[in-house]
Amino acid sequence: MTQSTPAIVILGQGSLATARRIQQVFPAAQIHGLAGRVEGADCTYQEFGATLRALYQQDTPIIALCAAGIVIRTLAPLLLEKGAEPAVLAVAEDGSAVVPLLGGLGGVNVMAREIAAGLQVAAAITTSGELRFGTCLLNPPSGYALGDLELGKRFVSDLLAGHNVRIEGAAPWLDQAQLPEDPQAQRSIHVGSAAREASASELLIYPRSVAVAVSADTADLASAVRSALQQAQIAGQSLACLLASETQMASPLLREAALELGVPLRFVAAQRDLETLARVAVPAATVVAGHGVAIAVAEQPLDVSSLGRPRGRLAVIGLGPGAAELMVPAVKAELARATDVLGYETYVRMAGPFRDDQVQHCTDNREEMQRARHAFRLAAEGRSVIVVSSGDPGVFAMAAAVLEALHESTDPAWHSVDLEILPGVSASLATAAQAGAPLGHDFCVMSLSDNLKPWSIIEKRLDLAAEADLALAFYNPISRARPWQLGRALEIVAQHRTPETPVVLGRDIGRPGQTLRTTTLGALTPEQVDMRTMVLIGSSTTCTFPRGDGGVWVYTPRWYGEKPGA
Ligand code: SAH
Repeated sequence: MTQSTPAIVILGQGSLATARRIQQVFPAAQIHGLAGRVEGADCTYQEFGATLRALYQQDTPIIALCAAGIVIRTLAPLLLEKGAEPAVLAVAEDGSAVVPLLGGLGGVNVMAREIAAGLQVAAAITTSGELRFGTCLLNPPSGYALGDLELGKRFVSDLLAGHNVRIEGAAPWLDQAQLPEDPQAQRSIHVGSAAREASASELLIYPRSVAVAVSADTADLASAVRSALQQAQIAGQSLACLLASETQMASPLLREAALELGVPLRFVAAQRDLETLARVAVPAATVVAGHGVAIAVAEQPLDVSSLGRPRGRLAVIGLGPGAAELMVPAVKAELARATDVLGYETYVRMAGPFRDDQVQHCTDNREEMQRARHAFRLAAEGRSVIVVSSGDPGVFAMAAAVLEALHESTDPAWHSVDLEILPGVSASLATAAQAGAPLGHDFCVMSLSDNLKPWSIIEKRLDLAAEADLALAFYNPISRARPWQLGRALEIVAQHRTPETPVVLGRDIGRPGQTLRTTTLGALTPEQVDMRTMVLIGSSTTCTFPRGDGGVWVYTPRWYGEKPGA
């Protein structure tokens, strides 16, 4: 089964039409076009190899419109590593051939058939078992788990060698398969949740039909669940989820147990005891209680998404200055899992594109507290919410507003939300890196905006920071509503610094049309600065020298006073 939305990767303009036809098969998939070569893709990438390998490592299924050989060579270094193995397909640029390459257990053949049907060609399926039986026995549909892959491979080759098979238990997805069925066969496909001894003559497939109600108060929870299942003679692979009371939603012990067992955690309104909780959550199941847990065993695989509700999540993320390469991988992963995205429209657009199932809530830049509360209301419903900031969310951005909203709230549902702040590359750091290392020694970061603080405190801090000989980084240096403040700030700094002090102006750093200028404090005027500019002012030790390409390096040495070892 396909776990996540595939990425369609193209190298040239000639592939775009075919890519769009494939997109009709996977409407949520994005077309990634090589920058400078492809116009009109959904997003662009700079380097084919790095992009393909990153997608692979993030377990994203890949549909590459290029020669199979290129894909194989590109991914070769990753193939011996254990870890992700998403489906990977090569599709001919003109759509005439669909070649599943990797990810047999990630449903690559299913995808190949779907794409081929969309392009009205035949998929180049080469998997013997699948060709013969019309299904990959080792890749049961979601809701079922394969017992043992190695035994399974042997089992399939036995069938290919001519052995017959019988089916025990309910395997509705095999109704359409062309298996050599015989009620007397020695070999069997066994579908059921009972624990069984693995044997070469049986292919064990477990329906994920079991939910276990647990409490954070049970000691050593994951082991308790394992031994309770063992006592009840239920296979661990049949476990579909853990259930717990909403009152324990924030418990780290529950989270750890679910992680360790590799299953989702769902929450139900508080009940008298765990047995009742299990019955309420899964009414159709048989419930066995004991050992500090209650086990609910259903006849069919459980639809986990309909049992109780998940713990809501709220992630306050930093996009970095703008360029996709400067976004941290944890933020990318968070963007993929979000159900709701909140933020100032420009940043939400920068964070996208999003899938159709992801709700975007764009707001005006100034409504920070309202946005923070809205985010908690959504997350408290069990949604997975993202609040977007540019740069780092903790630097003059949404993280503090979100925490302030939570601090003010007495709603236990808000305090149960899984809140996480994910950092980003802040504009001062992105600008400094391009200029060299102007913040290489102690520095002071300030916002010159007096929207939320009196101007007098800004003047005082500027004066003291400049006197202390700190390099200075100014966010929000100027705006239409604050026209004179920067001029005044520069006057204060000039009382403590020489006119030759290096100044770096970074505008739209990491975004299209970025500019980086190096000037001096004496030559700096407010007209050179706007609200999309980062202003870095050196300390007395900040210096410059020419770089090989004709530009200039700016840096502040790590030492102060006398150069060590000189
Ligand atoms: N959280 C952001 C800062 C928000 S305050 C961060 O960590 O970067 C907004 C100010 O940041 C702008 O007025 C500008 O001074 C600066 N800024 C943000 N993005 C920038 C960019 N890409 N290039 C230059 N300055 C930027």
